[in-house]
Amino acid sequence: MRAGEMRAGGMNAGRVAPGVPGHGAAANPAGVIVNALTIDVEDYFQVSALAPYIPRHEWDSRPCRVERNVDVILSLLGQTGSRATFFTLGWIAERYPAIVHRIVAEGHELASHGYGHLRASEQTPEAFLEDISRAKALLEDIGGVAVRGYRAPSFSIGHGNPWALDVILQAGYQYSSSIYPVKHDHYGMPDAPRFPYESRPGLMEIPVTTSRMFGNNLPAGGGGYFRFLPYAASKWLISRVNRIDRRPAMFYFHPWEVDPEQPRVPGANAKARFRHYINLHRTVPRLRRLLSDFRWDRVDRVFPTRP
Ligand SMILES: [Zn+2]
Repeated sequence: MRAGEMRAGGMNAGRVAPGVPGHGAAANPAGVIVNALTIDVEDYFQVSALAPYIPRHEWDSRPCRVERNVDVILSLLGQTGSRATFFTLGWIAERYPAIVHRIVAEGHELASHGYGHLRASEQTPEAFLEDISRAKALLEDIGGVAVRGYRAPSFSIGHGNPWALDVILQAGYQYSSSIYPVKHDHYGMPDAPRFPYESRPGLMEIPVTTSRMFGNNLPAGGGGYFRFLPYAASKWLISRVNRIDRRPAMFYFHPWEVDPEQPRVPGANAKARFRHYINLHRTVPRLRRLLSDFRWDRVDRVFPTRP
């Protein structure tokens, strides 16, 4: 246990004393930590867990839900004055440029989720460079803003492919949010740092938030856990990071998670179905609570990188 844990134990959720130092800790004058909210903009048929059941060549023939779902998210954010970072697929931006325009016009950060939702771990360095460079150019062209951040599909950077970080830097990105310091069957690098660090000179790695307990890093920044566990668990874990670690949290979710009506993918196995469909109807009410219980902003403002 760190010395700060006892001292901070009695404070309110998500609050720290004014002037608390900490790398990347964005606090307003009242001392409330501002956390980073992120959305991976992809449609339900592009999700890695369902990839075995939907060939890529069928993507264009699937009913698309992403425009409607991003609208739902933007109006939720607008109601609380929250800002967020949208890691957007180039494939989506190309077909639905209005989404990109809305994200930028409403003051959110436009960032990249690559072009074709390919895991970094399943590409050659050359193919990976082509995918993430294409996405960056496309997003910047459509959005009319600089794109500085990249998140790999399925957090697919780890011990097996450290070269990917060099490629991200080479493609001109300034930060990545691609290494998740947890144990998971599809991804994760449990021994990676839990808080932002310079993975390469000029490239920050900004991990999705974990809470350290019993010698393990527990996922505390959204994903399926936000739907699976009661909201109180997410609230407690994020508060714990703000209070004990005295750091901003980074939370993530997807547009398809706010859409209980999305078409069901036939043939998916029980585990994939559970992960994808559990409690979809609870996401919006839970997001409303999350947005009012904590303060949220764009990644580039919560974790400013060096100029
Ligand atoms: Zn994704």
